[in-house]
Amino acid sequence: MLLSLFSSSVTNCALISSLLLTPRRTSPASPFFLRKVITRAISFCITTSTMSVNLQAHAFAGNPLRSTIPKPGDPFSPSSALETLRSRLMESTSSNQLISPSFQVLPFRKGRPLASSVDGDGGDASEPNWHLGWIGLADCRGYLAKSGVELTAESLVFLGFMPDEDVVYWAIDVSSENSLVPELGGKRLCFVELRTLMVAADWTDDRAMADLAIAGHARALLEWHKLSRFCGSCGANTVPAEAGRRKQCSNETCKARVYPRIDPPGESLEEAVRRETFEEAGIEVGEVVYHSSQPWPVGPNSMPCQLMVGFFAYAKTLEINVDKTELEDAEWHSREEVQKALSLAEYKKAHTTAAAKVEQMCKGVEKGQSLSADFNVESGELAPMFFPGPFAIAHHLISSWVNGKSTIGVGGRQPSTSLSNL
Ligand SMILES: [Zn+2]
Repeated sequence: MLLSLFSSSVTNCALISSLLLTPRRTSPASPFFLRKVITRAISFCITTSTMSVNLQAHAFAGNPLRSTIPKPGDPFSPSSALETLRSRLMESTSSNQLISPSFQVLPFRKGRPLASSVDGDGGDASEPNWHLGWIGLADCRGYLAKSGVELTAESLVFLGFMPDEDVVYWAIDVSSENSLVPELGGKRLCFVELRTLMVAADWTDDRAMADLAIAGHARALLEWHKLSRFCGSCGANTVPAEAGRRKQCSNETCKARVYPRIDPPGESLEEAVRRETFEEAGIEVGEVVYHSSQPWPVGPNSMPCQLMVGFFAYAKTLEINVDKTELEDAEWHSREEVQKALSLAEYKKAHTTAAAKVEQMCKGVEKGQSLSADFNVESGELAPMFFPGPFAIAHHLISSWVNGKSTIGVGGRQPSTSLSNL
């Protein structure tokens, strides 16, 4: 069966991904396809080293705060949490830590997260363990007040929340407050280099690795905020938006949106595939298999240069629950239906139209017309099921699945033996 997702716009996308989903539990005769759009930036690293530890994820991946980003309206969503944060900061009492949800803040100084260290459990082989130095909102405000600085909602960056906890987590850059003394109730706290924490982390300790991922994401996000203070389009100041998840140009005639691109880690590509697929299509995804990537310098004006990354993925559930703010629709289709749709080759018509348009423009027949605005090669108006042409990675994902082999790839290699099982 084929699942097609229709997205009306890819605006705001820092990275676009196409997926092929196949239910693991069904026969090879009934795989299905999903094309979707990932709406946030992702970074990843490749390692060729071998490890004796059976890790669940790479260092800095597996951030539990990012496993789910709640929808607007949810008290744990960035927008709702920001509104609550603003109201809390307007209150004069320091007892608001008892109010649901509670807020925890991780301060950073010059890229170093606040951390604490506790002794091991006493055994000869025990080692001290470090933990992130989370502080409550009232304490954070108190620290800054000692330096004569008022804590504002705009100075805090949303990190996420922990499932099953009533806590929203934030980060703040206090690099400019050199007089801050990070002491809290006798607890020894200090700002520690992230690389030091990385080496000091017990790779077999899930909590330590989770803390490392959280700190890595927070640091990258704060660094990005520091380096994106001005609009690259008009030069005006940028201001935080969506609880610090993006920035926006303060120039009313510009209003350019600025998103983190490759910088913020915090989840792997595979994690992003699973999270976004569930958030926008309601489908749980298990195994994720990389197919290929494609530079995409023809995105919308707000984000013209993107990286398309294509995956095959095995669905664990079949029920579709479409997020209508992200996608227009989603449907399942059989392989035969997909083959038929591909044979219609409507994109060939678009190609012919575009070629003729270019020729006319070159001859001066249609001066001043915008080529990109003249036709929409992804409109799908002429076909019951429409796929982008060979210019798009989605086309190759679909073709790969229909034909049972890759239609593109580095050096002509098959992307994965798993492909034959789809
Ligand atoms: Zn601007």
